[in-house]
Amino acid sequence: FYADFHPRKGKQGGAWMTEYQGQWIDKKGENVRPHVSVVMNLTKPTAEKPALLTLGEVETFLHEFGHSLHGMFANTRFESLSGTNVWWDFVELPSQFMENYAVEKDFLRTFAFHYKTGEPLPDELIDRIAKSRNFMVAYGCMRQVSFGLLDMAYYTQSKPFTDDIIPFEKKAWEKAMVLPQLPDTCMTVQFSHIMAGGYAAGYYSYKWAEVLDADAFSVFKKNGIFDKKTAQSFRDNILSKGGTEHPMTLYKRFRGGEPTIDALLERNGIKKKQDC
Ligand SMILES: [Zn+2]
Repeated sequence: FYADFHPRKGKQGGAWMTEYQGQWIDKKGENVRPHVSVVMNLTKPTAEKPALLTLGEVETFLHEFGHSLHGMFANTRFESLSGTNVWWDFVELPSQFMENYAVEKDFLRTFAFHYKTGEPLPDELIDRIAKSRNFMVAYGCMRQVSFGLLDMAYYTQSKPFTDDIIPFEKKAWEKAMVLPQLPDTCMTVQFSHIMAGGYAAGYYSYKWAEVLDADAFSVFKKNGIFDKKTAQSFRDNILSKGGTEHPMTLYKRFRGGEPTIDALLERNGIKKKQDC
């Protein structure tokens, strides 16, 4: 595992996980281990201050570290099916799953102390951060769904398309529209994810990954966020398997069933939590 945390001259901005070498098992049966890296551009430390991370930076790190775990725990025969080489709508499960830890008190208590006084992050502040994440979340959800519907409407066309795109667009996302569309606007022409961003017919995967990560994390919430047995099962059934089997088969082996949207709705505060 290689960590490249801070910006320097000539380094690309942003954050990502990368593999210098994937995992595979060679002809002699030797398990060739992966070389995985998390690249970030975190605020640099200065002479007076250590590198104090923003919540966003912590979340980004957890996200990329989730991808890294997928790479590092890989244990499959072929490199092309190893680690993060999974179906498009499954690749963000390990990364988004890890983001859940960012507002978990038991996790924050392991490292989030004031750099001068050593005081832990107050519970009340953590609760407020968790709550603020749900600001406008239902509207954001419907917006994501509407984009997914529009993307799918284009990619399920079977004949050459010559109609007016404005009414086409309106009809495509009608079911998920919360507010009336502004006149003379058209999302399609500026929606690069659909036409050129590589997401063709896969835009829904953003929301789908949230369904998966919330559902998976709900098992940890129930058993304890550091529960070894649950973590081992997540590793054995999902993280180590790469793309060797259908994602739903892997997921069901971990979860004992298909995911539902309940955990996501509960996390978002849209649905009341069940007592269990
Ligand atoms: Zn990601």
